[in-house]
Amino acid sequence: MKLFRTDLINGLNNTLFEIPVNELNTGEFVITKEYLQCALTSCPSMDGYKLNGTLELTTIETCDRCLDDYEQPHQIPLTLWLTSNQEVLTDKSDDIIPFPDNQDWVDLSDTIQDLIFLDKSIKTVCKESCKGLCTTCGHNLNNSNCDCPVNSINDRWNVLKK
Ligand SMILES: [Zn+2]
Ligand SMILES: [Zn+2]
Repeated sequence: MKLFRTDLINGLNNTLFEIPVNELNTGEFVITKEYLQCALTSCPSMDGYKLNGTLELTTIETCDRCLDDYEQPHQIPLTLWLTSNQEVLTDKSDDIIPFPDNQDWVDLSDTIQDLIFLDKSIKTVCKESCKGLCTTCGHNLNNSNCDCPVNSINDRWNVLKK
């Protein structure tokens, strides 16, 4: 996603950007739409601009419990500082992005990718109440119950104890 200096000079006020997903390196994740939405507000600050906003998108995840795919909405807060100030830039923070004075635009694609990646939780479940798969027959218990005895796991433990 290219953000142009002219836009920053004019000032962004909750301005909506549509970012084509094919501009991002989405090897790690599947996004449901062709565009993701980003609302940005800018304000001039120390040889650059501070940016605040929110990224909105929906990814397809695989549930850890029942192995079904489901849609996971994300609302990711974004706080960035674009600057040419060398003192600020020595502070190695992901939020600080070099924006040299002779550059007309800055590419935020990598930053956006990283934010999405960080927001994807390590453990993913389709819903908190997901019943998962039957450990005996592998049936998805969200759809219906299977015919396996409910206490089959306990039975196995009892067999082991004997
Ligand atoms: Zn599930
Ligand atoms: Zn079963």
